[in-house]
Amino acid sequence: MKEQAKVSIPTKHGSFMTIAYSSIENDPMPHIVLLNPDTDLTKPVNIRVHSECMTGDVFGSYRCECGEQLDKAMEYVAEHGGLVIYLRQEGRGIGIINKLHAYVKQDEGYDTAEANKVLGFGYDDRTYEDAVAILRDLGVKAIQLITNNPSKIEALEESGIRVDGRIALNIKPRIENLGYLKTKKEKFGHQLDMV
Ligand SMILES: [Zn+2]
Repeated sequence: MKEQAKVSIPTKHGSFMTIAYSSIENDPMPHIVLLNPDTDLTKPVNIRVHSECMTGDVFGSYRCECGEQLDKAMEYVAEHGGLVIYLRQEGRGIGIINKLHAYVKQDEGYDTAEANKVLGFGYDDRTYEDAVAILRDLGVKAIQLITNNPSKIEALEESGIRVDGRIALNIKPRIENLGYLKTKKEKFGHQLDMV
């Protein structure tokens, strides 16, 4: 993972130093870091590792809560310092076409975990090595992870990043995503207090 480009971008939450990371130069799908420029990277840093979800993040889909999570994480980081790593692993790592296939299965009655299984994928095919490589490149040694997902904390700790704490992201469930959130809580062990 290497820094390929870096520039400040103003957003509704404030300005972020926006850094593109990839292993190949001109990779059309680089990971993106949104860094609050006032962050002290030598102290434990507030980090959101957000996996791409085009339908939620860009189009505001209510099938999941990804868009709202990203928005809240950006807001938190803008206020308290820290950074968001936007990882290009759409649909828990299976890509958007397969995610849309999985949605079809969900409409047929499968839950989000079963739908992936029926299509021949694991429950969750995401990996976090790239996030760790980016944190190393930025000189981050210890983090406070903005997440509801305990396995994400484990994955980062196993790769040698010190996780000092968790910052919860509480999103109110909607009628459209309540089933999805229940599966996340029951099958994936996510800590969702409002579900
Ligand atoms: Zn999503």
